[in-house]
Amino acid sequence: MDSLHTPSGRAPAAREFEGRVAVVTGSTSGIGLGIAEALAARGAAVVLNGLGGREEAEVARRRLAEAHGVPVLYDAADMSRGGEVQGLVERSAAALGAVDILVNNAGVQHVAPIEDFPSERWELILAVNLSAVFHATRAVLPGMKRRGWGRVVNIASAHGLVASPFKSAYVAAKHGVLGLTKVAALEAATSGVTCNAVCPGYVWTPLVAGQVSAQAKAHGLTEEEVTQEIFLKEQPTRRFATVEEISAATAFLCSEAAASITGAALPVDGGWTAH
Ligand code: NAD
Repeated sequence: MDSLHTPSGRAPAAREFEGRVAVVTGSTSGIGLGIAEALAARGAAVVLNGLGGREEAEVARRRLAEAHGVPVLYDAADMSRGGEVQGLVERSAAALGAVDILVNNAGVQHVAPIEDFPSERWELILAVNLSAVFHATRAVLPGMKRRGWGRVVNIASAHGLVASPFKSAYVAAKHGVLGLTKVAALEAATSGVTCNAVCPGYVWTPLVAGQVSAQAKAHGLTEEEVTQEIFLKEQPTRRFATVEEISAATAFLCSEAAASITGAALPVDGGWTAH
């Protein structure tokens, strides 16, 4: 890991993650890419992960590496498969020395009433949104505990704290993520490793854009009507949260200042869960 330190051996405050290695699952787009960028900007070496075109991932990888002067790798592991989740952690540690920061961000969604909810969608959402968090956490914890420092941040959702209709698998998975976050926090509490969750409200990303157009079709409304009358109705600020706001909260939870915060669920939801 020494090779990642500045020549002086001391990272300037703005590069507080210099010498740290971060794995961010589902970071080829949306919130995950924003978090990867926020960690890289603060000096961390980053492993990007996600589905989609390799070319697109390579563009993101090169952009982050050049903009922030840190090593950035891409790994195409499929977070719906436990063995591949473990492989992502192992390959990242082998390539960069260790995994110090794990951000479990990969997520998928499907919207349908329970009685129409396809079983295979339920299985996929539970696998990617919940089981992958378990597999990745299990893989990173031994090394983090051994080194006496680590950060696990789970990108849950306001839907980890409250429910909405038609999102049975997503709401169940995100509630599960908050439970797992607390267990990991308790098990690692004396070892310098924290585990927390960020609970975004609606953030404008490809995942939400897909939901807006699906609901517009389902309800016979325009996308603007769906945005204002369905999505932002829940969010007292009446605006989407930004990727930058979620990324900054995540970076804070990875910082030294957050060393005594563990097992917490931090809403970044414009007041949604204050209702
Ligand atoms: P997004 O669709 O833009 O990005 C999801 C990422 O996950 C992509 O990089 C995708 O490739 C990756 N992914 C999906 N399935 C995968 C798999 N099997 N293996 C590996 N990678 C996979 O979504 P987003 O809006 O940026 O969401 C990111 C996280 O934030 C999710 O966990 C989501 O539940 C959560 N979240 C989002 C919002 C929101 O409003 N956008 C609100 C609350 C929580």
